[in-house]
Amino acid sequence: MTAPENHSPSNLSPTDGSCVCGQVRFRIAPPYRAFQYCHCSRCRKTSGSAHASNIFVPVEQFAWLAGQEQVRRHELQTARYYCTGFCAECGSRLPWVTRNGKLMIVPAGALDADPGERPSRNVHFASRAPWYTSCADLPTFDAEPR
Ligand SMILES: [Zn+2]
Ligand SMILES: [Zn+2]
Repeated sequence: MTAPENHSPSNLSPTDGSCVCGQVRFRIAPPYRAFQYCHCSRCRKTSGSAHASNIFVPVEQFAWLAGQEQVRRHELQTARYYCTGFCAECGSRLPWVTRNGKLMIVPAGALDADPGERPSRNVHFASRAPWYTSCADLPTFDAEPR
């Protein structure tokens, strides 16, 4: 196994994100703390997918641009770190602040442009869905196949 390249971000400008109904908008600014896929069962349930794709951003580098009053937060009291944020109108996943108030956890799928960074690791991979299959191992179509 080769060591991962020291990736330097190609995009040092801020990136905006939004929910699918468009009422909530936010902005993140690099450098980011981490970008990872989380395969834990909670992230699988809230994302409805194989894994969450989260960017960790210091709160000083995050701003709500619109619709913050639409943002809901769900904490699980039994969980040490887990939490989620979502739009009350459309249900899209949205950023949430960690309990210590230092980091925003930003679901990368909510971004409207390329943040420049790439995910660097899978976490909780032992908890991955039994049906998890790497994208690279699947036939790939640029649009819906006929
Ligand atoms: Zn929305
Ligand atoms: Zn998780």
